[in-house]
Amino acid sequence: MPSDHEPSSHAFPDRSESWSGNPIWRLYTTYGAGRRYAVVGAVATVLGRAFGLIPAFVIGLTVDAIFLAERSYALPFVPDRLVPDTDVGLLYVSIAILLGAAAVGAVASWVEDWGWSVFAQRVQRNLRVDAYERLQDLELAYFTGQRTGDLMSVLNNDVNALETFLRDGLSATLWVLATVVGIGVILVGLNAPLAAVTLLPIPVLAAFTLLFTRLIEPRYLSIREEIGDLNSRLENNVSGIEVIKSESAEEFETERVAEASDAYLVANLAAIKIRITYFPGLNVISGIGFAITFLVGGLWVLGQPPFGLTGTLTPGAFVTFVIYAQQFLWPIIRLGDVVDDYERAKAAGSRVQGVLSRTPAVLDRPDARPLEVTEGAVTYDAVRFAYAGEPVLTDVDFAVDGGTTVGVVGPTGAGKSTLLKLLPRLYDPDEGAVRIDGQDVRDVTLRSLRRSVGYVSQEPFLFFGTVKENIRYGTFGAGDDAIERAARRAQAHEFVENLPDGYDTMIGERGVKLSGGQRQRLALARTMLKDPAILVLDEATSAVDTETEALIQTQLAEFAADRTTFVIAHRLSTVRTADRILVLDDGRVTEDGTHEALLETDGLYANFWRVQTGDIASLPRAFLERALRRQAVVGIDDRTDDD
Ligand code: ADP
Repeated sequence: MPSDHEPSSHAFPDRSESWSGNPIWRLYTTYGAGRRYAVVGAVATVLGRAFGLIPAFVIGLTVDAIFLAERSYALPFVPDRLVPDTDVGLLYVSIAILLGAAAVGAVASWVEDWGWSVFAQRVQRNLRVDAYERLQDLELAYFTGQRTGDLMSVLNNDVNALETFLRDGLSATLWVLATVVGIGVILVGLNAPLAAVTLLPIPVLAAFTLLFTRLIEPRYLSIREEIGDLNSRLENNVSGIEVIKSESAEEFETERVAEASDAYLVANLAAIKIRITYFPGLNVISGIGFAITFLVGGLWVLGQPPFGLTGTLTPGAFVTFVIYAQQFLWPIIRLGDVVDDYERAKAAGSRVQGVLSRTPAVLDRPDARPLEVTEGAVTYDAVRFAYAGEPVLTDVDFAVDGGTTVGVVGPTGAGKSTLLKLLPRLYDPDEGAVRIDGQDVRDVTLRSLRRSVGYVSQEPFLFFGTVKENIRYGTFGAGDDAIERAARRAQAHEFVENLPDGYDTMIGERGVKLSGGQRQRLALARTMLKDPAILVLDEATSAVDTETEALIQTQLAEFAADRTTFVIAHRLSTVRTADRILVLDDGRVTEDGTHEALLETDGLYANFWRVQTGDIASLPRAFLERALRRQAVVGIDDRTDDD
């Protein structure tokens, strides 16, 4: 099958405009690249319907022409010479037509399902990939404000609900239309006044359906929201199962899951109540319509047409009418299903649309050029930054020469991580600029920037896969030798060798469990393999035991010698030998110098140093009071080495 998913460029066109309006229609026009399958399905639907209408016509004709001899056996499109002249012969013709129609109907039904299903599956696939890609391109801040379960439910439940509608809904709509038009045309041809009676319920049904959609729409939206809530709760609990157990919080959590389930149940019941009233309502209306057709037609066949109607109605034509009027019921009930599915799909569609129509806050400028690192000099120029209005960095100004190793220290929450997350543009500053060799990081391509800035976080994420795959992540073409070299530098080689399958051991979720320090070393190896021009180590060795850290330090010194390196650390021994140390306090750089110079200054850094060397007695009172106020002091939180 030809692929109809155009490889999407990494640029992020703003589609919010085109996504206004009906989400289903947008979906069809934007993602319906596999429309030819829908066309095949549509043709088969109409054809199948046309053949499905033949039997009632032939039965009526057979009754009139063969049993009652009221009309001649005239088949449309069939020349008379092909029609036999005995009644039994005609009966065989009727049977043959019925069988033929059934056979064609069966084939058409297969083709119909095939066409619509392939179409819907393709839309589903493309929509999911596209929604994921867009989500992935959104800035980190977006994810901080979202719950994982909610996003999952958009990518799964909502996309699937749309698929269901595209598969069944569109074909059913066409089926209903073909049936109603086909039957309408035949009935009007047979007996126009009686046809008018039979078609009478249609406007009533339309009005009733409109009322239904008005009532059900908000309910389906709230169901989709409750699914998101429930998913988030479940996802959160499965991830946090260790805490739940160790805190004996099972009962509490069961209660919370029950509450979220209750909310979902209540939302569902509200919709169900309306839905279960709608379907019997449809039945009642069309049932009354059918009864009226039967009454008027019956009286007419008996020679007493009501309402001043004139002319004759043959019993055969009446049989055809009755069968068609019955068949009319089905599409109308199915129409109810379609409308119901449509309303669900619309609710799902608007949520998917919510993702698709977002433009990421951090993205390549149209004229972005690749970053060119010459020296690796980094400047922060009057940088201010706030998380959702909460100021974190204020007027941060500093310049670092290329190749320098810079230690960044300060109390917890001072903004150290945030500061360095601005470098690879995980966030953008609200004011001021971050520059690498004079180039504003917002003017260069994200790809080149992130290629040049290696960021190792304190809690690195490992994917489910082998050790090798995890180290190679981001440098996908790396060979085994390079991977091993990087692992040796990060002091990871030895423990990896001792894993059951060495570099091929499965780790991450469902894999061998690694300690925090081991995970950190793999993350370090991953970044060393990438060989970035600028290195950011955000508490990257905090969980590694001091002995191993010392070994890493010697390797790092060599690795960092000719590249600009930022090291955030609580343990001051980690940054002691840095060329320069920045002390961050409350979002500002308050001290800046070498270890010795900062001790000389006798400020915050000197006090941290006293804490860590156990010289608590000589700490100034003001420092302790401030530390107490913060309830969090660097160095006093004696972090445990877990490997
Ligand atoms: P540090 O690395 O010095 O401990 P951070 O940069 O992690 O400090 O955090 C600085 C402040 O910003 C803290 O008050 C923290 O609560 C807040 N913060 C950090 N990350 C986020 C986030 N994603 N959303 C909102 N606030 C955040």
